[in-house]
Amino acid sequence: GAPHCSPCSPPPLRLRACHPSPPPFPTPPPSQRRHRNGYPNLGAVRSLVESTTTRNAAAVPPSSSAAGLPHPIQSLQRGDWVKLICGASFEDAADVRNLSLVYALAGVDCVDCAADASVVNAVVEGVEAAMSIAPVRRPWVMISVNDDEDDLHFRKAEFDPLDCPPDCLRPCERVCPADAIWLERMPTEDRLPDGVTTQGGLQGGVITERCYGCGRCFPVCPYDKIRARTYVRDMAVTSELLRRDNVDAIEIHTSGRRPDLFRNLWSGLRDSLQHVKLVAISLPNAGESTISVMNKLYSFMEDDIRCHNLWQLDGRPMSGDIGRGATKEAISFAVHLAAVEYRPPDETGDKT
Ligand code: SF4
Ligand code: SF4
Repeated sequence: GAPHCSPCSPPPLRLRACHPSPPPFPTPPPSQRRHRNGYPNLGAVRSLVESTTTRNAAAVPPSSSAAGLPHPIQSLQRGDWVKLICGASFEDAADVRNLSLVYALAGVDCVDCAADASVVNAVVEGVEAAMSIAPVRRPWVMISVNDDEDDLHFRKAEFDPLDCPPDCLRPCERVCPADAIWLERMPTEDRLPDGVTTQGGLQGGVITERCYGCGRCFPVCPYDKIRARTYVRDMAVTSELLRRDNVDAIEIHTSGRRPDLFRNLWSGLRDSLQHVKLVAISLPNAGESTISVMNKLYSFMEDDIRCHNLWQLDGRPMSGDIGRGATKEAISFAVHLAAVEYRPPDETGDKT
């Protein structure tokens, strides 16, 4: 089903809140529809994989090392950990399932997804399909949550297409990398149920479950019609997900500027965190205070944490696919941190 049917998803945002009685969201054209029931081409995928991997099947490594560590932790310690990031806000279950299938076949260590039951189900379904095709190891499933709204990973674009000039060239639609904006001209003089006459205006808008909050559409709108709606993942729902057998890890996004919010979230999740194998803390570059922020956060964690832990430090949040210089900035941040002598523990073998 649609991700936003889950009680832990943010409420649907796509309909035009400014309009008293919005028309129903139109059905996208066939070229934009996605398969939602099963894998129509799973047999073809299976044949393709079998034709390319048979000779390499013996090379698939065992599920654990002599040291008994799970394979994702071995990858972390070797420095070749690979994670599929579906997106903390991306909730299109069909695409999440297909991505999980492909990347599980490719041998990723982890699949990171939105903390939403239907999205997690989609990841599990994709991974199980991959494992039915080839002798791949099961990647860990990680859910992403936040401790406050001040995080770019947890936002959705929204606008009311009835507010848009009918002759707008729709740069928002073209710039969206996720096909999350779909617009269509309504017939001239179309009359809505509430009596409003559209006069050939636009209908459609943001397809909420596909918007992952990248922000590309905000600056390109010549009429400044697009707003960002931020949200915080529901703690009770997160707690429930962590208790599932098929959720292995959590990523907690924090700005580091409000340690009290992080402590509240940590305290609320304390019991359910005992069910996961890995806790990752994601925070942005806080300059010279980065290490002291990490130590502060770790002081809240250290009495409770029984599993592996990982620090995921963003050079510049949400800039992996946009923004010049993001890679250089991330490398320079990593070099700076590597030179620091005292850091809180993590799973890369650094215990200082
Ligand atoms: S924020 Fe990004 S993903 Fe969302 S609608 Fe805008 S361009 Fe698309
Ligand atoms: S660019 Fe702005 S005004 Fe034009 S269709 Fe998109 S949201 Fe509406």
